Amino acid sequence: LDTIRENEPLLRYTSWKIGGPARFFADVTSPEALLATFAWANEHEVPLFLLGGGSNLLVRDSGFSGLVVRYRAQQVVVQPHGEVASVTIDAGAPTAGTVRKLTRQGWSGLEWAEGVPGTIGGALFGNAGCYGGAIAESLRRAWVLRDGSVEEWSVERFAYGYRTSALKQARRQQLANDPGARFVPPVVLSAEFQLQRGELADLGAKLDQIATLRRSKSPTGQSCGSVFKNPPGDSAGRLIESVGLKGASVGGASIAEKHANYILNRGDASSDDVLRLVEIARERVFTATGITLELEIELVG
Ligand SMILES: Cc1cc2nc3c(=O)[nH]c(=O)nc-3n(C[C@H](O)[C@H](O)[C@H](O)COP(=O)(O)OP(=O)(O)OC[C@H]3O[C@@H](n4cnc5c(N)ncnc54)[C@H](O)[C@@H]3O)c2cc1C
Repeated sequence: LDTIRENEPLLRYTSWKIGGPARFFADVTSPEALLATFAWANEHEVPLFLLGGGSNLLVRDSGFSGLVVRYRAQQVVVQPHGEVASVTIDAGAPTAGTVRKLTRQGWSGLEWAEGVPGTIGGALFGNAGCYGGAIAESLRRAWVLRDGSVEEWSVERFAYGYRTSALKQARRQQLANDPGARFVPPVVLSAEFQLQRGELADLGAKLDQIATLRRSKSPTGQSCGSVFKNPPGDSAGRLIESVGLKGASVGGASIAEKHANYILNRGDASSDDVLRLVEIARERVFTATGITLELEIELVG
């Protein structure tokens, strides 16, 4: 396949700016091209990894020895029916940019996602959310490429929970069973949301308010957002701060002063630096509180 590149550095595609090369790498924009790429990986007996915006991943410095595929279709179709609209968004569309455009056109329901990095596909995978909203809430259905054909998935089929979905659970299980196995991931191709008409002035003000809130709470620098999930009834950031780890560093990686659930790459952090900080935070929090912090991010490679 002429679309496949070799030894592509993955740090270019991750918000942490960490990660070694992908042995093979392909950008595709249609379900047919996805299938051709999967067939190529099967023929060459290499594992697959599906990349979105790379904003919830830690790629090891050793890279990925198989084929990394990015699904980049980005079309958005708005079908208004009076006061509501069905909006179909391709999975490769950037979450924040798409939501901002829709909100500025007067469609309400996704404005909480102002400033959320990554793609719509990644957001459906992890049930992205913040400031009281989550992707599952305005989702109506999605089209998923699985076992070679396109399936229509209801919201129920995604089995959404806090920062999780049936897709994420299946992936975790697969990694736990056999991390090196060749596995063709189900791919979200597009998703349909139901949005409501809102007042432009109100929606504009809401976007500005969320952007300001995000700026005031988020550390600046290269990160992956929250590293751990919040345990029930508590906050991972508060727990990590309570064991005195704010500002702690290993190599080029530091736990952010502004928000202890963020780990920043200060420029030359290795994946091992980040993993060491992850381990230290987990150990200290467990020793002090008995709570085991669970990773929100995914480890690749
Ligand atoms: C500064 C910062 C702030 C953040 N703030 C938030 C926040 O407020 N709330 C929040 O929820 N998250 C937040 N995040 C995390 C991240 O933005 C979300 O998890 C995002 O939805 C990940 O999307 P992505 O496209 O980058 O996915 P990636 O990181 O590329 O991939 C994550 C997983 O999704 C899978 N995936 C990607 N595309 C598809 C697809 N089309 N079909 C099936 N699976 C797919 C991948 O295979 C992978 O397993 C933040 C991250 C950063 C860097």
